[in-house]
Amino acid sequence: MNNNILFFAPVFKDLIWGGDKMAREYGYAIPSPTTGECWEISAHPHGDCTCIAGDYKGKKLSELWAEHPELFNTGAGNSGNTATTGEFPLLLKVIDAKDDLSVQVHPTDEYAKAHENGASGKTECWYVLDCEPGAELIAGHNAHSREEINRLIDEGRTCELIRTVKVNPGDCLFIKAGTVHSIKGGVMLLELQQNSDITYRIYDYDRIRDGKKRELHTEKAKETIALNGSECTAVSTPNTAGTHKIADCKYFTEYRINVDGTETFTAGDTFATFFVTEGTGSADGTPIKKGDSFLLKAGAGPLTLTGNMTLIAATPGSVS
Ligand code: ZN
Repeated sequence: MNNNILFFAPVFKDLIWGGDKMAREYGYAIPSPTTGECWEISAHPHGDCTCIAGDYKGKKLSELWAEHPELFNTGAGNSGNTATTGEFPLLLKVIDAKDDLSVQVHPTDEYAKAHENGASGKTECWYVLDCEPGAELIAGHNAHSREEINRLIDEGRTCELIRTVKVNPGDCLFIKAGTVHSIKGGVMLLELQQNSDITYRIYDYDRIRDGKKRELHTEKAKETIALNGSECTAVSTPNTAGTHKIADCKYFTEYRINVDGTETFTAGDTFATFFVTEGTGSADGTPIKKGDSFLLKAGAGPLTLTGNMTLIAATPGSVS
């Protein structure tokens, strides 16, 4: 067993819009045919992943974060770290949208700190794993003023407010906190985000579950939606061999690694997370395959990836 990489048991979420594609695509033991999310690497109290092998078997990621800072090295003095709280900074999940998710928005750090008991905001980045041809996501809005945003929401005309974006597998969309967004049915994606679970729902298609509609949070949403709503676009990511940076912000840096033979990945002086989107191979000699996720310890040195596969890697903080 290689002790430089840690594997975790994922936490599944049964959700009104979820499906069973993760069982078919990745062989996951999903708990229900409406499994919407798989939290692959998370230390959030709503889904704290447990290490499944090696020296730290049985430990929660939040415990490792608290007891073994050397595994992560995101403390003071690490130039890569800009996390605003003392929590594990990232959350990596697979989302299988069989039906449309609610139209929603997440707060910025400043807003969450003031209104959500000091919690982190939520900036997220989507990598499209699988979708039907012509599939769409919702990202951003068409309004030109705060009054227009508020009026369209108040009048129940959310569909006129939102912008749709066409996507293909391999596309990347950066969803800054304050961006109205929704995942449409038929899309499965990998979401890298700040360690936060705060969502303000604007519209939920009037769906009923367990006899009631899910709660909306329109007042907080109206305060949170960024005025400039037309910036977010889908960017196709490179499929040529090598390591390609696909997103970079103050919270995280994300890479697409296409392995055809051997590639090495260096995480700088911090940790990194990985998800295998396609193919099979090995990481420092440990076999890995499509659907696997793992964490590379800080200070482990360059990771050698061998085989024929594609991975999405992430490190905390910005590299630019
Ligand atoms: Zn979201």
